[in-house]
Amino acid sequence: MSEARYRRVVLKASGEALMGEQGFGIDVSVVDRIARDIVEARKIGVEVGVVIGGGNIFRGVAVASKGGDRVTGDHMGMLATVINSLALRTSLVKMGVDAVVMSAIAMPELCESFSQRQAMSYMDAGKVVIFAGGTGNPFFTTDSAAALRAAEIGADALFKGTQVDGVYSADPRKDPDATRFDTLSHAQVIRDGLAIMDTAAIALARENHIPIIVFSIHEEGGFNAILKGGGHCTIVSDDADTEQRAGA
Ligand code: UDP
Repeated sequence: MSEARYRRVVLKASGEALMGEQGFGIDVSVVDRIARDIVEARKIGVEVGVVIGGGNIFRGVAVASKGGDRVTGDHMGMLATVINSLALRTSLVKMGVDAVVMSAIAMPELCESFSQRQAMSYMDAGKVVIFAGGTGNPFFTTDSAAALRAAEIGADALFKGTQVDGVYSADPRKDPDATRFDTLSHAQVIRDGLAIMDTAAIALARENHIPIIVFSIHEEGGFNAILKGGGHCTIVSDDADTEQRAGA
């Protein structure tokens, strides 16, 4: 029997997670470390889809804030996610894992185009599918893309890798009294403006009853510990909703 608590998940990592100490671009040793966590997840039978942001390379708002065209800026941001996705595929393939990049924007010389049916069949076959190009639309984020892909492929959970190991009552890097929430509801996250993902992403996850698991992307083995039912994280779910209503 599988040791894993989840059958199929989407892992969302921000582009900034890939740059390590460099402050820009891609640190291959960091990408390799994230890839190792995905390899371990595959070993316990978890089907993994991945969405990586592009913030380590480019964000559309950077163009808009200097008076440029936001849509073109967002196109540049989406291209950045393709660069990061190709980097992750390279690391996974190097480690012997079958991985495929599917982009929301067609670029057939570089990677496959996203199709829900093909993505499902790759995942059924045990391939890691890296969803590149965000949603393919400007004015969205890769958080929304991650929630969208999670809903489309019927993921049991959306893992949101962040700088810290969950959602805290205050910034734990600044406030020693900050405490980590074990569980939260989607509604509470939206209502209290807890900045774990953008509101569109949380709303989409909520509508599709997908728990969001907030954990540290920097803790080696952290992803797998949670997949096995342990580890450090905050779980944002409908169950917490129900508990709160019951307690109200
Ligand atoms: N982006 C977009 N549509 C999408 C996803 C991303 O236009 O569906 C663009 C947008 O400019 C964004 C950039 O790609 O700023 C990088 O994505 P994101 O900011 O989500 O990356 P992260 O913060 O996760 O590194």
